[in-house]
Amino acid sequence: MSELKKNSISGKLIILNTERSKRCNEFLKKQTSCMNKNQYEKDCPLCLGNENMTPKETFSIINDRKKWIVRSIPNKYPILTSEKNTENQKDNFIHGEHEVLVESNKHDANFYNMTSKEFVYIIKMYVNRYKELYKDNIKYVSIIKNYLMKAGASLEHSHSQIISMSIVPPTIKEEITNARNYFNENNSSYFDEMLSNKNNIFIENKFFYAFVPENSSYGLEINIVSKYKSNFEEINEDEIELLSDILMKTYKKLKEVTGHLPFNMFLHTLPKDDEDNLKYYRYHFHIIQRKWFFGGFELSNGIYVNSIDTEKLIEKLKNKKN
Ligand SMILES: [Zn+2]
Ligand SMILES: [Zn+2]
Repeated sequence: MSELKKNSISGKLIILNTERSKRCNEFLKKQTSCMNKNQYEKDCPLCLGNENMTPKETFSIINDRKKWIVRSIPNKYPILTSEKNTENQKDNFIHGEHEVLVESNKHDANFYNMTSKEFVYIIKMYVNRYKELYKDNIKYVSIIKNYLMKAGASLEHSHSQIISMSIVPPTIKEEITNARNYFNENNSSYFDEMLSNKNNIFIENKFFYAFVPENSSYGLEINIVSKYKSNFEEINEDEIELLSDILMKTYKKLKEVTGHLPFNMFLHTLPKDDEDNLKYYRYHFHIIQRKWFFGGFELSNGIYVNSIDTEKLIEKLKNKKN
């Protein structure tokens, strides 16, 4: 039997059909054998020692031996550039900046095997670059991560991308509108409701919770949500520690339950000047493991098919030790 459902926050329609998951066991761990990797690869532009293969860095955190631990560099093939509009203005002109955030000095490091200390360096870099790129008439700064080719990564070495832009992207606008509508209908924010009913939460700490959203367009999706803050740039040192800890634990659990799969991770946060929507919205990370490609049905109709038994997934994530 199939049901048509709507995700409360994205507003996207999905067809829920858990029968389809019987095609294969969705929780059968797939150990994408982590390629044949070493700490250093001579052809990798993101490896320690190969800095001459990239543009000059914009930020780094340095260790006791004066070597970088994480660093950011301008993207060689940017989606947007900071080129300002000229006389021959075009109405549809869009500008911004695009950097690559190198998340480790080791080629074989990845989110499934990193320590919480390593995540601290990464989040510190995210915050630094987020604040630095959010300037002039920038309206939004997006942080995204593609892990492994199947999820769109063009380089194997662990990295994210940060892109500032002179517009607020439609996904964010829709989420904020849906969060406001949810509040008006339920007299409580979607994110606070998730926190208070606890059913879908599998890890929680003082400042963050990780949960499996209902009616996700993508099947294997996790959200990590700030309990109290709407704007990512307001994160403080204590919160960075606990965000790093929950990220480390989440990836460990995912590795145990669903396996070392390709994934996308991205940050959603309230745009800086949007004070009207503070109480409806919390900044959060989406983590989407990519077990399946979208097919023609999704591309043609804009309706996604979800065949995951959410309850079963939550049970499995809860049962595993941290
Ligand atoms: Zn490398
Ligand atoms: Zn979101």
